[in-house]
Amino acid sequence: MPKKSKKIRKSASVKLRPKTLEIHGGGSIADIEIRPGLHRVIGFSLGSFERAKRLFAGLEEGFIYTRVNNPTVDKLEKRLAALEGAEAGLAASSGMSAIELLALHFAHSGGHIVTSNRIYGGTFHLFRERMPALGIQTTFVEDPFDDKAWEAAIRPNTKFLFVENPSNPTLDVFDIKHLAQLAHQHKLPLVVDNTLATPILLQPIKLGADIVIHSLSKYMGDGEVIGGAILGKKSLMDDMRAGWFRDTGPCIAPDNAAILCYHIESLFGRVKEHCRNASVVAKFLSRHPKVAQVFYPEYGVRKTLNQRLMPQGFGGLMAFEVKGGEKKAKAVLESLKLFWHAANIGEARSLVIHPATTTHGQLTPPELKKAGISAGTLRLSIGREDPQDLIDDLSQALKKI
Ligand code: PLP
Repeated sequence: MPKKSKKIRKSASVKLRPKTLEIHGGGSIADIEIRPGLHRVIGFSLGSFERAKRLFAGLEEGFIYTRVNNPTVDKLEKRLAALEGAEAGLAASSGMSAIELLALHFAHSGGHIVTSNRIYGGTFHLFRERMPALGIQTTFVEDPFDDKAWEAAIRPNTKFLFVENPSNPTLDVFDIKHLAQLAHQHKLPLVVDNTLATPILLQPIKLGADIVIHSLSKYMGDGEVIGGAILGKKSLMDDMRAGWFRDTGPCIAPDNAAILCYHIESLFGRVKEHCRNASVVAKFLSRHPKVAQVFYPEYGVRKTLNQRLMPQGFGGLMAFEVKGGEKKAKAVLESLKLFWHAANIGEARSLVIHPATTTHGQLTPPELKKAGISAGTLRLSIGREDPQDLIDDLSQALKKI
């Protein structure tokens, strides 16, 4: 590649703003393809005998086989890295496969993870139920706002701290800078699941976090494709790619990577719209007499701190507790006409779900309680419809109880 284009590539990742990076990040005007092309191919020409040897030994960078790397996937990884302010990225088949890969890489054969109980139910279940079978233990900090609780959970064999920010579905916002300092005092990396914030609202690596993971199946892909990603130092991405990633095969399909690249070009505008709509709906619910509590960072005792920690907004996810428990929550859910009853987050259309019996149904009743989820809690993924129509729909559904 000519020298000039390398310069452009570097500056694109360092100086440009998120709105521009979603279109130009990780690329350069010297690229042949204006839009990321789709490389629906498995094996790449290895060139000479000697080059093949060097590629397989990791002594030269280049495309070998799509399970390991692919030009379309590479474009997605570079764009995500640029958006997150990371050196490099590794795309995976789903958010869960990204988290699993991370756990295997760092904590296999007797390692330990510290996280909080404010995480997606699937992640909770992976750490609690599946990982012990592979020799990996996890401690779930019950009060994640208490430094002492994090410190008390750290053991000699702890490999990383893992935090989801904001958390699904209670929208707890964490002080990433502070948690990174705490992790580093113990010489541990801080991993942040930045799925709900997206790099448009928060860039954890710039705040001191070491690794960011994403479910790309949410805002990034606008509900069209499944995918995941790990972002961090290039040496770490290289190690993971050459290790558990290559040998277990949780790669993303190039088709999905291409679709993700297209959707990411509109991420900034979409996320801002989700934020605006969610804020309007949360305000309506916070004043409703049949609502016991609204889980959105603009409300509650931590609201001032939350504004400081996420000044760009809080995203489109929220939850609220219907007075009267599961029976009433069920009646509200079943009366909604505009909200789809579905398990995703971050789509154009608004979605509703009852976490205690679905996304977080793998938690026991005491675990649910500790995680702040009650039988009356409904989770809303606020879409990009006119928010007044969403309010009208919620209003008629709440009238039914
Ligand atoms: N992280 C968060 C915050 C999630 O909400 C989810 C899924 O809902 C995941 C990770 C897992 O992602 P995926 O469904 O892409 O495997």
